[in-house]
Amino acid sequence: MRKKIVAGNWKMNKTLEKGVSFSDDLKQRINASDSEAIVVLGVPYIHLDRMAHLSNDLYSVSAQDCSTKESGAFTGDISSSMIASTGAQYVILGHSERRAYHRENNADLATKVDRCLLDALTVIYCCGEQLEEREANTHFEVIKSQLSEALFHLTAEQMSSVVIAYEPVWAIGTGVTASSDQAQEMHAYIRSLFEEKYGKAISDDVSILYGGSCKPSNAEELFLKEDVDGGLIGGASLNPSDFIQIIDAI
Ligand code: PEP
Repeated sequence: MRKKIVAGNWKMNKTLEKGVSFSDDLKQRINASDSEAIVVLGVPYIHLDRMAHLSNDLYSVSAQDCSTKESGAFTGDISSSMIASTGAQYVILGHSERRAYHRENNADLATKVDRCLLDALTVIYCCGEQLEEREANTHFEVIKSQLSEALFHLTAEQMSSVVIAYEPVWAIGTGVTASSDQAQEMHAYIRSLFEEKYGKAISDDVSILYGGSCKPSNAEELFLKEDVDGGLIGGASLNPSDFIQIIDAI
């Protein structure tokens, strides 16, 4: 069954103390909400253990990246098994900031996806085109490569542990949101790629989230689109009041 998911991405924000106080606030708000969305919080590594234990199953915790390696002499890196050992259940992979600032490519991401699945983590796999790619009308090709090169070696069964986040890079942190029609067009295309590769049952089941300046004022319009199954929320996930409004919008 396709799931409705609202996932936050805190990026490099909040001390541990601020994260704990956000968690207390968010739990009260989720308790008072009748939303049935699955709520995920993508937090910095230092928060994972504490927040996974504080969440009371009201939300799940996600890392924002993991190493391509299993263990060893890789100073500063964190492996998928270390993430799983904290109680976190998700990992965001392929975020455009990782692709841009850490030069992650689709081949690296294929390895990371494999590692996470071996450790029973659910992957939120991000894809998205740059503004120039959309202007050159190559955005469909870009998304196709990002998906096929990092994910299409997986079996149909493994695909049930993958969630897609379509995040046009020109919409991330810019205040410029893709229109709900632009989001729907790309989400339907992504679903068609899954249908081609894995068949209708898998493509119907895959959750495809929209990310890029999604906020309380535009979330409902985006979420009403047939192929938009929720959101990956950056800036607006830092404030419990904004975040719960987006959760409620679903
Ligand atoms: C993101 O970075 O994943 C994101 C969607 O950011 P924002 O909501 O701030 O555009």
